[in-house]
Amino acid sequence: MQENKSKTCISCNRDEHTVPLVSITFAQKPAWICTQCLPTLIHDPQRLQSKFESMKLDGEPPERLID
Ligand SMILES: [Zn+2]
Repeated sequence: MQENKSKTCISCNRDEHTVPLVSITFAQKPAWICTQCLPTLIHDPQRLQSKFESMKLDGEPPERLID
């Protein structure tokens, strides 16, 4: 368990100290995305979907819904 794992953008993996992150959910899974990647999510959600699927394979879904 990594208690202090910081939030990172699901798309570019930058953390909240580098970019502003926005909380999102997709397919009932919570995640974070930075403001720079947000347009990607809006215009190309399919790309993000593969990210979520790979996250699931890692067996380490983000569970921090609330800060
Ligand atoms: Zn990003």
